[in-house]
Amino acid sequence: MTNEQLLDSYAKLAVRSGLNLQRGQQLLISAPLDAVPLVRRITEHAYRAGASLVTTVYADDAATLARYAHAPDEAFDVAPAWLFNGMAEAFRGGAARLAIAGEDPSLLAGQDPKKLARANKARSLAYRPALELITGFAINWCVIAAATPAWARSVFPGLPEAEAVERLWRAIFACTKADLPDPVAAWEAHNAELHRRTEFLNDRRYRALKYMGPGTDLTLGLAEDHYWKGGGGRALNGVFCNANIPTEEVFTAPHKDMVEGTVRSSKPLSYQGSLIDGIRVRFERGRIVEMTAEKGEDAFRSLISTDEGAARLGEVALVPHSSPISKSGIIFNNTLFDENAASHIAVGQSYTENIRDGSKRSREELAALGANSSLVHVDWMIGSAELDVDGILPDGTPEPLMRKGEWAI
Ligand code: ZN
Ligand code: ZN
Repeated sequence: MTNEQLLDSYAKLAVRSGLNLQRGQQLLISAPLDAVPLVRRITEHAYRAGASLVTTVYADDAATLARYAHAPDEAFDVAPAWLFNGMAEAFRGGAARLAIAGEDPSLLAGQDPKKLARANKARSLAYRPALELITGFAINWCVIAAATPAWARSVFPGLPEAEAVERLWRAIFACTKADLPDPVAAWEAHNAELHRRTEFLNDRRYRALKYMGPGTDLTLGLAEDHYWKGGGGRALNGVFCNANIPTEEVFTAPHKDMVEGTVRSSKPLSYQGSLIDGIRVRFERGRIVEMTAEKGEDAFRSLISTDEGAARLGEVALVPHSSPISKSGIIFNNTLFDENAASHIAVGQSYTENIRDGSKRSREELAALGANSSLVHVDWMIGSAELDVDGILPDGTPEPLMRKGEWAI
């Protein structure tokens, strides 16, 4: 297939399998400026699927940098609450959401960490009403990626830019199955496999997971009434969608107060323009009490200081080391891809759908079961070919779940 055909197949996959956009639905897209060609194709497929209106909000890296270079100090406590409130209103009115990732992983490297922390906090606070509808799975939504020049340069630093972009697109098409003859059918088969895995895990009702590997000795309690999810799912508006393309993970809610021990990151994490690498943390009663990072330590420290829940876990996900994304051998410096190449954990907000009947329970009930609450939700990778994971049954018996990074079940 030509690049044009692949891009079109990918756009169609996002609208059909990713969003499963319904006739009459509005669609809200957020995208980097460099993703215009992809956004136009998605917009076309969205209208063909019956969308009533497609609205795109573009992010421009140069404009973001101009703010850090020239804006007055007080500007860093400001966020466009009006915009995020409008997005939340659109979602409540039935709009679907498509986020296109592709940002420069180290766009804000070297900027004042205090300004970064203030700007991120202001943004997180203002974004909360919209984020809650997303993490609560109120609407059908999807995250995909576009190969932008800045991102491609960071993934393939040795290649000329055009070649780097081309290679990154090829990797994206392969990891998302967009290069297969029938991507929609491939996603149905993939979902069936992930659902088999979640059914097994939900039947076992483990009370904890135990992780063992170099630099890692961690016991991670699971929330009461936790529920494993993976692959596509039905949003509360009744639409079955695939929220992440690609996705290889099965994931659930840890208990926010029951994580003990040490864990080491296995891949770099790109967070709001900072690249964070070599993270080591120690948990006590669910909370991070010690942390260091070889790179981006300030950014990680400010992330986990956002609020009380940011130093606790909101998600635990298992991904075999042989996942197609991991096999590509590429470190993407982008969470959508890297989190699907390795088992991971996330600090911050947990997903309501990871608690049985979560959407019917109050915030207090969810907290009592161990679900975490925070302005942030950031995944980071801990899986590798050296990681063993046991599931701890309700009576305390351990059983092998993963050995050397692969499923043992
Ligand atoms: Zn995840
Ligand atoms: Zn996550």
